[in-house]
Amino acid sequence: MKKIIVAIDGYSSSGKSTMAKQLAAEVGYAYVDSGAMYRAVTLYAMRRGLVNPDGSLLTDELCAALPDIRIEFRVVPGDAASHTFLNGEDVEREIRTLEVSSHVSPVAAVPQVRHALTAMMQEYGKTKGIVMDGRDIGTTVFPDAEMKVFVDASAEVRAQRRYKELLAKGDEVSFEDVLRNVQERDEIDRTRKESPLRQAEDALVLDNDNLTREQQAAWLLETFHRIADA
Ligand code: C5P
Repeated sequence: MKKIIVAIDGYSSSGKSTMAKQLAAEVGYAYVDSGAMYRAVTLYAMRRGLVNPDGSLLTDELCAALPDIRIEFRVVPGDAASHTFLNGEDVEREIRTLEVSSHVSPVAAVPQVRHALTAMMQEYGKTKGIVMDGRDIGTTVFPDAEMKVFVDASAEVRAQRRYKELLAKGDEVSFEDVLRNVQERDEIDRTRKESPLRQAEDALVLDNDNLTREQQAAWLLETFHRIADA
């Protein structure tokens, strides 16, 4: 069976990470969460005071710091999923907070940040056998990916999912704040100049509103085998 690249793109909280992770585990591929990489850069910027209280960025300083930002995915004891490490520190939990979510889209709109992270992602994909999820994987990072999926779901369904996840982690958030964050990120991701979120012309669409998790997983696996076994 040939090794391929699987690119899964879609809006915030569309469930793409869960399905990408599951597919990777089922077929023995590496999984890369590109959103976690943008989140790690955002956390770095917040900690360094490069995000102003009004949400604007010290863009020049952030770009100058890019060579000092090292992002890795490592397996940690007691968790089946790998964690995101920022300069040697496990930041998996911190990068998922609503605070990081509310600053990540402006950071991800900075062209230099995108170029640096895209180069890192392309390096991961050199040997193929990879499932990567994000916003521009099928359009910019791996335009030649053999399998491209675009996950579609309404903002309300996605916000509900994120809200439940945050509550389960003990974060005190309101549904309205989560919904607003999802809608704001959609808007910034869709309208930015540098590789905006859009469906690749050759992507297959997965409508997440109307399928159960099991149906989605079955569809993905079947699609994978149809392409990889051909
Ligand atoms: O996927 P997740 O919601 O964790 O991504 C966080 C943010 O990172 C997105 O809202 C988007 O602004 C940015 N992102 C991106 N391109 C990617 C992955 C994520 O711009 N490939």
